[in-house]
Amino acid sequence: MAKKTIEDLDAGAIDGRLVLVRADFNVPLGARGRVADDTRLKRTLPTLKRLVSHGARVVLLSHLGRPGGAPDPRLSLKPVAKRLGVLMKMDVAFCPKTLGAAANKARSKLKKGGVLVLENTRFHAEETANDPAWSEALAEGAQVFVNDAFGTAHRAHASTEGVARAMRRAEGEAVAGLLMEHELRFLGEALDEAARPFVAVIGGAKISGKIDVLKGLVRRVDRLLIGGAMANTFLVARGLDVGDSLVEEDQVAVAREIMSVGQEKVILPVDVLVASEIVPGATTRVVATYEIQAGDRVGDIGPDSVELFAREIGSAGTVVWNGPMGVFEVDAFAGGTLTLAEAAAKAADDGCMVIVGGGDSIAAAEAAGVTNRLTHISTGGGASLELMAGAVLPGVAALSDREEEA
Ligand code: ADP
Ligand code: MG
Repeated sequence: MAKKTIEDLDAGAIDGRLVLVRADFNVPLGARGRVADDTRLKRTLPTLKRLVSHGARVVLLSHLGRPGGAPDPRLSLKPVAKRLGVLMKMDVAFCPKTLGAAANKARSKLKKGGVLVLENTRFHAEETANDPAWSEALAEGAQVFVNDAFGTAHRAHASTEGVARAMRRAEGEAVAGLLMEHELRFLGEALDEAARPFVAVIGGAKISGKIDVLKGLVRRVDRLLIGGAMANTFLVARGLDVGDSLVEEDQVAVAREIMSVGQEKVILPVDVLVASEIVPGATTRVVATYEIQAGDRVGDIGPDSVELFAREIGSAGTVVWNGPMGVFEVDAFAGGTLTLAEAAAKAADDGCMVIVGGGDSIAAAEAAGVTNRLTHISTGGGASLELMAGAVLPGVAALSDREEEA
């Protein structure tokens, strides 16, 4: 069922109200604790600006890094609050506590249209433990909870899932922010009714981090194109020798299981680019996947595979892509990924819905210069993968349902 968003709230539900917002401010920090990349902050601006312009008193929660349940000054959200103020062109207050007397005081000092950032939620073990009492305390005094942290929606933590339930128990609203709504629309609703053929392109280094996604996708899609180092493990599962390439021996059985579900769906590379070392300037050879020799390392998919994959992408109604086809960081092994990125952009130009997620995949799309031609670039790594695979995200499930229009 569709979830309520901030657009479903009456003006009266926001004006002058204390609105608790969970954002994803898990940004990379650079020298002297400065925000090195503020993309995630910018993505939350539509939600924050809307709340501010409607007179909310905005209290922001986020995690940053992995402090492990104890305060770590290097992972303070203070520099984030500062940068947010610059982006919003207003004073953004910061409180060095997440909860307790100091936080309550800072909350009560908030004026209409004011914004306050509380300290890193993961400075407290209760956050990842999803402690109900702690969630209640976060929700106390607020009338609305807005979850805009798509990137952490696949985790049931106190500031994502717990607080939403606490807010609803207290008869308050728990709704999706605009970024969250956007991601759910593309990765959730749109994929539930994906135009066919539905093609998934999955690559990257490891199967292990993406097992559930592969298992979910193989049931949902018409074609599962597999590249990257991940393909090596599938090739081994098919009885081929991949030389000295990266293989996850402990995942061969999983690869076999995935292929048994969708025999005709899973498409592996037919040729690959190999070298004795995956380094800049390496001497490369194109070989068929049954001709890989001892000492060879697979660095990219080969030209016949690129053509095969591009043909599938070209005839698709929907494409989801996560994970590069090769070691695209090294020029000699970037060709497969970049050529397919162009093929995906061409498909999108022609009306195919193309969705790309994953940090390295987005970097690859940027390197190929195609990002603005794609239908949707997802901000969430694990969350976008789980949603693509058809999973229900706990941070989303906990939000209020939208009343169906009669
Ligand atoms: P994403 O961030 O898009 O989810 P991943 O993090 O899963 O993608 O995988 C990206 C990494 O996979 C890149 O660093 C890339 O170099 C690596 N990779 C891709 N193909 C290979 C390969 N054949 N051998 C070794 N590493 C590979
Ligand atoms: Mg990555």
